[in-house]
Amino acid sequence: MYDVIVIGTGPGGYHAAIRAAQLGKKVLAIEADAVGGVCLNVGCIPTKALLHAAEEVENARKAAEFGLEFGEPKVDLNKLGSWRDGIVKRLTGGVQTLFKANKVELKRGFARFVGPKKLEVNGEVVEGRSIIIATGSEPATLPGFEPDEQGILTSTGALKIEEGVPKRFLAIGAGAIGLEFASIMNRFGAEVTVVEFMPQILPGSDAEVANLLARILGKQGITIKTQTKAVGYEKKKDGYHVTLEHVETGAQEEIVVDKILVAVGRRPRTQGLGLEAAGVEVDAKGFIKVNDRMETSVPGVYAIGDVARPPLLAHKAMKEGLVAAENAAGGNAVFDYQIPGVVYTSPEWAAVGMTEEEAREKGINVKVGKFPLTASGRAMTLGATEGVIKLVGDADTDLLLGVHIVAPEASDLIAEAALALEMAATVTDLALTVHAHPTLAESVMEAAEHFHKQAIHIANR
Ligand SMILES: Cc1cc2nc3c(=O)[nH]c(=O)nc-3n(C[C@H](O)[C@H](O)[C@H](O)COP(=O)(O)OP(=O)(O)OC[C@H]3O[C@@H](n4cnc5c(N)ncnc54)[C@H](O)[C@@H]3O)c2cc1C
Repeated sequence: MYDVIVIGTGPGGYHAAIRAAQLGKKVLAIEADAVGGVCLNVGCIPTKALLHAAEEVENARKAAEFGLEFGEPKVDLNKLGSWRDGIVKRLTGGVQTLFKANKVELKRGFARFVGPKKLEVNGEVVEGRSIIIATGSEPATLPGFEPDEQGILTSTGALKIEEGVPKRFLAIGAGAIGLEFASIMNRFGAEVTVVEFMPQILPGSDAEVANLLARILGKQGITIKTQTKAVGYEKKKDGYHVTLEHVETGAQEEIVVDKILVAVGRRPRTQGLGLEAAGVEVDAKGFIKVNDRMETSVPGVYAIGDVARPPLLAHKAMKEGLVAAENAAGGNAVFDYQIPGVVYTSPEWAAVGMTEEEAREKGINVKVGKFPLTASGRAMTLGATEGVIKLVGDADTDLLLGVHIVAPEASDLIAEAALALEMAATVTDLALTVHAHPTLAESVMEAAEHFHKQAIHIANR
């Protein structure tokens, strides 16, 4: 009998397992595939490795502007692939080492419920006082574009850069995954098109900031078509002839590409898990229903990460894992945190808290502060002045509500904003914090000053 059994060792699962063990519990973690889950094996980590390499290629080209000529970068795709795999191996090995150090038992196999607290794995039945479900997600499919990982790819197939950079690449979906692969392929020389059904890229995010990123990516040579859907394709000798249709006008056009990435979202993975045997309820979209303690409809059975609810992000899964573990160990933790989102294009996009649109819908007396990177000394010294910091705040209370960034290192800059929101900071608090000069982070301070029409380095309109 285990105290806690965790199904899945992705970011959610391994966090839950390790924390439960730290709290003195006897823990079993079960993994059907690769330890580390999607994020470490075929998600966050390998994409970031390729994005970094792709950005270095671009940086080498750009350096000519300030007098550094490296010549046209030579890319050894096999070596790049090995480097990517090496990082994945180190990190997934690291998780297994951490399991050992924390005395988390690891069983390889597919777990299936045979009772509320009973699982069958490899023909053996194991029982836990608490169960934490962390089975993650898989790529959503798009009718008419069934992935074969040859020409029609999921993100997993698109990661195999050693199989060659396509001459013409189409990403269906302008979410984080579609845009990140668009950037990778563009930098490595592909002709890239991205189609998005909604009126803006990164649907649901702050429209003004998303549209700025779309313009910047457009200037980099990526063709972005919003309000456009891919309706089907015909495979011909010279490539995939894809029919695109404008959502409103119905106007159709055809583009010819060599590879198509289907990046229209992900769906929770519960198939074959036997949730019925446990009595665990799912919602209409297939996500396991949980409360803010991450507990499912069955007491003592928890669900975390991508299988539980959006947003489908690693750091959200990790924190939910900690909350579930604490509760499984008899604590009373709730998930009540701000969740930043990041897209690792170049420049990066990052956001946390409310968008301007959301704040207005809530009837808040919204005010915004903005600082363009063109006015940042640090951005100039980096040769990267495209971007903006946008703060959304409450004009009546001065409370900070949201921060939206397009900038180099936006992924790191957003942590300050998340902390500010967790501490219920006012915009004045941000403005009063002394930021080192010259840094990109200063632009957050200046956006806060602009909110009060007192920024120093721009005219305060
Ligand atoms: C291309 C790509 C890039 C991404 N980049 C980022 C990023 O930069 N930042 C970010 O925050 N997020 C990113 N994500 C999302 C991130 O990967 C997920 O949010 C995260 O992996 C979710 O963690 P999880 O623990 O819920 O599940 P997963 O990581 O999906 O892990 C679930 C694990 O459970 C196992 N499993 C499933 N069913 C069973 C079973 N019945 N028995 C035993 N084991 C089972 C699976 O094999 C898997 O290993 C990216 C995703 C993709 C696809």
